[in-house]
Amino acid sequence: MLLNLLSDYLSTGYHNENRQPEFRDSLEQIAGEIRACTGCGLHAKRTNAAPGEGCPAPLVMVIGEGPGQEEDAQGRPFVGRAGQLLDKMLASIGLSRNENAFIANVVKCRPPNNRDPFPEETAACAHFLKRQILLLRPKFILIAGRVAAQSLLKTSESTGKLRGKFYDFKIDTLSIPLLVTYHPAALLRNESYKRPAWEDLKLLKAKFDESGGK
Ligand code: URA
Repeated sequence: MLLNLLSDYLSTGYHNENRQPEFRDSLEQIAGEIRACTGCGLHAKRTNAAPGEGCPAPLVMVIGEGPGQEEDAQGRPFVGRAGQLLDKMLASIGLSRNENAFIANVVKCRPPNNRDPFPEETAACAHFLKRQILLLRPKFILIAGRVAAQSLLKTSESTGKLRGKFYDFKIDTLSIPLLVTYHPAALLRNESYKRPAWEDLKLLKAKFDESGGK
């Protein structure tokens, strides 16, 4: 740093026209890096990575597990059957990816046969999610399902244990209220999860209404 300043001064009298502009991260930059990423084995079998999509200043960021077959085909998160249900769940509390929500996953490439991502795959992808959260600065985070919940909260507890209450999710200097609920794919498999998931959505809505939707 000091040496750079000194060399700037010597070469230009402190008026360095050649200095690189400061690096500014952006959602497009991150998406481009994700699409080119070879950071773990999942890249080898992907058709498309699904970086995430939605409102760039979201009230709520939804974080799921990873792309499935349809997401891999389209390069977009939550667009298969579970995704359609997620859209309906969000709409029921006034949220949509076009207006006030952003949707992403902990891993951006499809795990084969929709298996859980391995810890090393989640770890290799974590910096992308972190950068997305820091840029988006969502007012709330809604976690869909066990894999994302365990990864973000660094726990091995079940969704049933983790859901239904807010956590204070700290990331750099941000502190974001985070709620866990069942994954929409779990709701499609097991009707009995619908009621608690609805309770979670109502809790989230009450919280953001209380905050004035800001
Ligand atoms: N399940 C997820 O967790 N994420 C998707 O994008 C699709 C299905």
